[in-house]
Amino acid sequence: MMTTKPGSTPPVCSYEGSDYQSQFWDNANRRYEDAVETVAIDRLFNQGGQLLLELGAGAGRLTQRYNGWERIVLLDYSRTQLLQARERLGDSDNFIYVAADIYKLPFVNGLFDGATMIRTLHHMADAPQTLQSVRRVLAQDSLFLLEFANKRNLKSIFRWLLRKQAWSPFSPEQVEFVELNYNFHPKTILATLQQSGFSPLESLGVSLFRSDWFKNHVTHERLVQWDARFQNKGPFKGLTPSIFTVNRAVGLSETPAQGSFFSCPICATSLPETKATQVCPGCSHEWQYSQGIYEFRINPE
Ligand SMILES: [Zn+2]
Repeated sequence: MMTTKPGSTPPVCSYEGSDYQSQFWDNANRRYEDAVETVAIDRLFNQGGQLLLELGAGAGRLTQRYNGWERIVLLDYSRTQLLQARERLGDSDNFIYVAADIYKLPFVNGLFDGATMIRTLHHMADAPQTLQSVRRVLAQDSLFLLEFANKRNLKSIFRWLLRKQAWSPFSPEQVEFVELNYNFHPKTILATLQQSGFSPLESLGVSLFRSDWFKNHVTHERLVQWDARFQNKGPFKGLTPSIFTVNRAVGLSETPAQGSFFSCPICATSLPETKATQVCPGCSHEWQYSQGIYEFRINPE
């Protein structure tokens, strides 16, 4: 089960101890979602680079699709999800596993030359703070692939018209339909991206046919073909339940000092990448490294 972690502000959604990967992806009928997300990623984010930050990487479902990147940091709030990712991808210099809070990213400014965040903003109560945090650790001109859940989708519009749903799909504010599960209005997210130092470049609407009826009546291959055809055009543009957007980090970024990598989430002292437990020289907090995972949560379970 997914749980809410109290005591942090804004609250953090944790998948600690969850069987999310097997329940949601491996056993359930989500082949379609997985396939059409891959189509969108290949279209929007195929450039590759040196160091990629994968925010909300979970069990590493998507990591190997970013195969043009030399090194990838898999970041998640859930350590158990990262252990599953490590089982899948193994230990090497190419994958760095980090348990941390996205609001308090443990990296020096301007470190990454790319970032992705898929099915994760969905769980963030404070979207502006989230996007500003991501922008801080990105180099100038780097690309950021963001997926968000769109409140203005066909299903919610029909439900609202039929009065089966109280909230309007057209109003700009986010809606929390289950605790710590948010859907957003596309215009609000685009404005928030711009206010956070990003220039939105292109977006694709994904998962238009996300319903059991389609999955039961149309072959998988055909559904994926249809989705791919309608991702950036047609009468349903902007009305899909999921939207992928690629953005450029604009404005100045600091250039990290040679060899610097982590930054203490308590006192912002720079810490090296050591593959070992280290004590912060600034605040004396001990940051653990065990089972191949860097622990940078301030109050882990
Ligand atoms: Zn410190």
